[in-house]
Amino acid sequence: MRFPIQKSDAEWQAQLADMGAEPGAFQVTRQAATERPFTGKYARHWADGSYHCICCGNKLFDADTKFDAHCGWPSFSLAVPGAITEITDRSHGMTRVETVCSQCGAHLGHVFDDGPAPTGLRYCMNSASLNFKAT
Ligand SMILES: [Zn+2]
Repeated sequence: MRFPIQKSDAEWQAQLADMGAEPGAFQVTRQAATERPFTGKYARHWADGSYHCICCGNKLFDADTKFDAHCGWPSFSLAVPGAITEITDRSHGMTRVETVCSQCGAHLGHVFDDGPAPTGLRYCMNSASLNFKAT
């Protein structure tokens, strides 16, 4: 899959380091790693604002769609339309729906269908993939 924003691994690594991103940000966003639960900086973060792709700044979620799923990762019930691309993920012996940034292909996490009404969706994200901006 091709995304509008293309950079080499070295370029992403340098950019994320320059931004002061979390140490695992490169492994999570470019190699689809998963941060350990309850370790990410946004797992218990409830300020007003919005969450953007750490790699390219694409706006992904409004803070008012964030909810506490008690899973240890930041969870959202609704994504900004068009911001996220879904990919079927059959790794680890499961079939899940991987979510990536529609602009740069950064791995964000997975989306599940056990979220709260009205969407019924639970976007289970890695904090390391996100950059919060206060309003
Ligand atoms: Zn992105």
